[in-house]
Amino acid sequence: MAETNEPRIENTPAPAPTADPAAVIKGLGVTLKNMFRRPVTEFYPDEPVHFEERFRGVHVLQRDENGLEKCVACFLCAAACPSNCIYIEAAENTAELRISASERFAKVYNIDYNRCIFCGYCVEACPTDAITHGHGFELATYDVGNMVYRKEQLLAPVPAAESQSG
Ligand code: SF4
Ligand code: SF4
Repeated sequence: MAETNEPRIENTPAPAPTADPAAVIKGLGVTLKNMFRRPVTEFYPDEPVHFEERFRGVHVLQRDENGLEKCVACFLCAAACPSNCIYIEAAENTAELRISASERFAKVYNIDYNRCIFCGYCVEACPTDAITHGHGFELATYDVGNMVYRKEQLLAPVPAAESQSG
């Protein structure tokens, strides 16, 4: 076989890494501990998702115990919003048409979820606890126009009528 001046590549296997018994025991300990934990896997959409209580999802415009809207159209939430995504038009309550317990109510209340960052500032700013975060999260859409939620989509349902006595 002819001699060459190319460097000779050793064909010897790399030395096997030495196992640290303490690390192995520690790793097995983690495995064993997790084997007996409750699984945290969510089976969405086949089963309802479990939320932390303070999860900030799609907003809810709350009603009072009489079913009147809590929003009094003070615009404080819109002023606090860093994304400028709340649009409100105010109107006066009348004797014939009472929507909220105060002088004014929100005739229009839109939140643009294209822009909302779920920071919660609007919730903190509201003096009547009218706006809160719900747990809604299914906002995905092919049409950005669908991301502008109107008051009718945000309003809490009217409380169930008192059960008839007797
Ligand atoms: S959560 Fe934040 S960004 Fe979204 S509407 Fe409220 S203040 Fe604006
Ligand atoms: S949701 Fe609250 S802060 Fe916003 S306009 Fe209504 S009452 Fe005012």
